[in-house]
Amino acid sequence: MYIGDINKAREWLEKAFSKTPNHLEGSILGSMTTMPHELGVEAFLRFIHINGNDPMVFPIVKEAEEIIVKGIGGLFDVEHGMYTSGGTESNIMALYVGRRVNKDKENTVVAPSSIHRSIDKACLLMGCKLVKIPVDPLKPVDPAILEEYIRLYKPFAVVVTAGTTEAGVIDPVKEAGELAEKYGVYLHVDAAYGGLLIPFLYRRGYITVDLRMFPGVSSLSVDMHKNGCAPIPSGLLFFSNRGFLEQACFDMEYMPLGKSCGLLGTRPGGAVVASAAVFMAMGIKGYEENAVKMMENSYYLYNGLKNIPELVVFKPILPINVFRSLRYSYIELFKVLAEKGVYVYKSPSLHALRVVVMPHVIREHLDKFINILKLIHGSG
Ligand SMILES: *Cc1c(COP(=O)(O)O)cnc(C)c1O
Repeated sequence: MYIGDINKAREWLEKAFSKTPNHLEGSILGSMTTMPHELGVEAFLRFIHINGNDPMVFPIVKEAEEIIVKGIGGLFDVEHGMYTSGGTESNIMALYVGRRVNKDKENTVVAPSSIHRSIDKACLLMGCKLVKIPVDPLKPVDPAILEEYIRLYKPFAVVVTAGTTEAGVIDPVKEAGELAEKYGVYLHVDAAYGGLLIPFLYRRGYITVDLRMFPGVSSLSVDMHKNGCAPIPSGLLFFSNRGFLEQACFDMEYMPLGKSCGLLGTRPGGAVVASAAVFMAMGIKGYEENAVKMMENSYYLYNGLKNIPELVVFKPILPINVFRSLRYSYIELFKVLAEKGVYVYKSPSLHALRVVVMPHVIREHLDKFINILKLIHGSG
């Protein structure tokens, strides 16, 4: 180690960078991250010095937040929202607000077993009990069963997912909203992954369910650093009313505005500026085109994988391709692929592997991937 030597530090950076996988090379196929839009990179760098927790000294933070909350919120018919560092912070804040506004209910959250692990994390942090409804990981939760659980456990909050992490399943948000209204439950919709896909794929006829702030929905989270092509960390958390939004803020007397909203303190203001810049550059139309392209690429991959006899392949709902091998366990196959320089993720609930077709994924990457799988299975 050479400490105190900028040239050695540069060398270290250079070496590390050359060894770090890059989305554009086609090796990152399982992650829900993507290469940020070029204007996002530029904006982040230019505003690298600003604190997103201080919108008084840095008013651009507030302005940027308003632009994306209005722009993306418009997709879901919602006007109240805040910028977060991503789906995890959004989920934690949503449950925190749910607990604050629903104090007389049991300290319990009810959710299908297909929810993201950050809901477990939120409950561990908040000390709430998480009751999971066992569901087929490839199917949405049945509203009738959800109702039974609500009656039985009297939860303060229910969480459903619009685009599950392991299989892209879309829970029945509208029906869950009706139940939330009926039983006075706080309903959080986790659309970290699906938020910037579902409205477009519905509009274009690829799926039959839409996503909106339906009556009864209390909050909805959408990640900008996934399908929004914004740099990490960028998420949005929408609330059905201003009062809920205010519950996500804490007194912080020494700060210029006397308060701080969300989980983080000092935070990268450059990220929120970058998100707004990317949104302005791409527009809703850009996101829609991306969504269609990703879905078409996902079908393309599905057809390619189906031709490999030793694979069990599930039809994608959103652009997530889930498959397993008859020759290798999913854990073995995960390792074999990683050794060949291809990084997929696991869908443990299905004992399968997952490719997420993100904005950076092109057919060339998919062809290469299909060929590697063929070779591994001796059908190349
Ligand atoms: C990605 C994801 C999260 C977590 O979001 P981060 O931005 O990684 O914190 C939460 N829920 C769902 C459904 C996700 O896909």
